[in-house]
Amino acid sequence: MKLVLATRNLGKVKELTAMISAERRHKDVQILSLQDFPDAPDVVEDGDTYQANASKKATVIADFTGLRTLADDAGLEVNALKGAPGIHSKRWAGDDVTDDVRIQKLLEAIEGVTDRGARFVAAIALADPKKTHNNYSHKSDRVQVVIGRCEGHIINEPIGDSGFGYDPIFVPVGFDKTFAELGEEIKNRISHRGKALRSALKLL
Ligand code: IMP
Repeated sequence: MKLVLATRNLGKVKELTAMISAERRHKDVQILSLQDFPDAPDVVEDGDTYQANASKKATVIADFTGLRTLADDAGLEVNALKGAPGIHSKRWAGDDVTDDVRIQKLLEAIEGVTDRGARFVAAIALADPKKTHNNYSHKSDRVQVVIGRCEGHIINEPIGDSGFGYDPIFVPVGFDKTFAELGEEIKNRISHRGKALRSALKLL
């Protein structure tokens, strides 16, 4: 079976591919990503929720490729910022900025604040293309969405080199190292995206 990952983020492709391949019963899944579909449309993430954005990405790309598609939308919710940056995590510090800039903006926004509580949240949507073989379907239930969460706290300065995004400043509950120090294997086991993905794979 072919499965398209609706993302151009190579960090995410790597994470999701590793997790899907690690599941023995999904060894035969051939994973493609938007790298394989350079003309795929850019999907505007204008939903009010992670679920809405993930569903939109998955259905648009499933229709474009004609293949089953998995899309995610995630964000970091910081208590001291009343849940921001949340669904705006990517553009909160401006368009096309580096992860370092995003991290610095966040650290400045909560400088001196004692409540460092935060969580990553991920929605993963699995969509079927509108047309499957000879069977044309208008079903609205051709997309399914699941959510995963990972609680933790934000430290004062970035530590670690692995992962992406806010990983170097996020320490998950039960650990004393950041996601960027813990490395891929542990992160995938406990992360928001890992949890959501394992639920989503049960739907395949
Ligand atoms: P996206 O919309 O799922 O691409 O996520 C939006 C932003 O949230 C990303 O650009 C990252 O800055 C941040 N983010 C999402 N997931 C993670 C993660 O697992 N680690 C670190 N940052 C993340």
